[in-house]
Amino acid sequence: MYDYLVVGTGLFGAVFARQAKEKGKLVLVIDKRNHIAGNCYTEKIEGINVHKYGAHIFHTNNQEVWNYVNRFATFNRYTNSPVANYHGELFSLPFNMYTFNKMWGVVTPREAAAKIEEQRKEIAGEPKNLEEQAISLVGRDIYEKLIKGYTEKQWGRDCKTLPAFIIKRLPVRLTFDNNYYNALYQGIPVGGYTKMVEKMLAGIEVKLGEDYLENREHWNSIARKIVYTGPIDAFFDYSLGALEYRNVRFENEILDTANFQGNAVINYTDCETPWTRTIEHKWFEFGKDGNENDLPKTVISREFSAEWKPGEEPYYPVNDERNASLYLKYKALADKEEHVIFGGRLAEYKYHDMDATVASALKKHNGVI
Ligand code: UDP
Repeated sequence: MYDYLVVGTGLFGAVFARQAKEKGKLVLVIDKRNHIAGNCYTEKIEGINVHKYGAHIFHTNNQEVWNYVNRFATFNRYTNSPVANYHGELFSLPFNMYTFNKMWGVVTPREAAAKIEEQRKEIAGEPKNLEEQAISLVGRDIYEKLIKGYTEKQWGRDCKTLPAFIIKRLPVRLTFDNNYYNALYQGIPVGGYTKMVEKMLAGIEVKLGEDYLENREHWNSIARKIVYTGPIDAFFDYSLGALEYRNVRFENEILDTANFQGNAVINYTDCETPWTRTIEHKWFEFGKDGNENDLPKTVISREFSAEWKPGEEPYYPVNDERNASLYLKYKALADKEEHVIFGGRLAEYKYHDMDATVASALKKHNGVI
């Protein structure tokens, strides 16, 4: 009899399993895919660690989480500084003095602040949705060129129907600082995320290609507790209705060029380009500079956002009112499941970053063991 059956080898599952193992518990980890690491999974192609389910950049202000992940990997000094491409015009992200200078020709922080102040006046009172929040943060010009198209492609919804908090993830700075994140610590594990998760799972029994929901009775009979990291609505057989998720599809290409776009991430912020961003994976790794003597090839992924359909991998919970209230109903059911711990982006239906996922796994773990 196992103490824990952990369903899912993503970050939540891997951290929980590691902690349980270190407390002397007997743990079995299963995953329905044929690889570990969930959506952090990286695979080596042409000597490059390719983020197969989209760019993952670890960033955190949480010292405990940072110390924890550093036990399993050495992190490089990658700093995310995506570039926005709006019909061939390039802008720095996140919104900072480089962006404001390109957009308006302003030179000083005072001029930039005045321009934003002038444009935000159209929003009176507390912003009610993402559009109003964006305009009140950076003004209409930036909203139209750098936010509206990207956001509506990513979420498949009008900015007027999306919650304001999504855009608050992005910093707005009156300094020349292209670092996307306001985080004390940031980087990418040397050798890729798969290697990091492999280390977390070292010495723990793992079975791949096993779907918990297809054979629940069997799995429930071999463990005292279940740690479930899949979609919460699927766990309850969609009995209250299906939650919505966004799905991401990638078109990957290996190109015979050393340097395709000169940056890891280029966002296409217009409405016409059908993909949201293009990732050039080699730039996540330290020591490559785009010169002739680098790796001769490159791997790129164009990222397309779509509504999730049954049978596909869900990526992002959709944060609107309908889904939020439906989730609360499922959460009430989950709270009654004494033998099941629900955790991670899909089971908690939260737009969690990796560090929040690790923190949540450490916390839930401490709460139960
Ligand atoms: N966003 C935007 N333009 C950009 C990049 C981001 O408007 O060029 C907005 C968009 O609403 C998006 C949100 O910021 O949903 C969060 O973006 P982030 O890059 O944090 O999303 P993730 O990397 O988690 O997909």
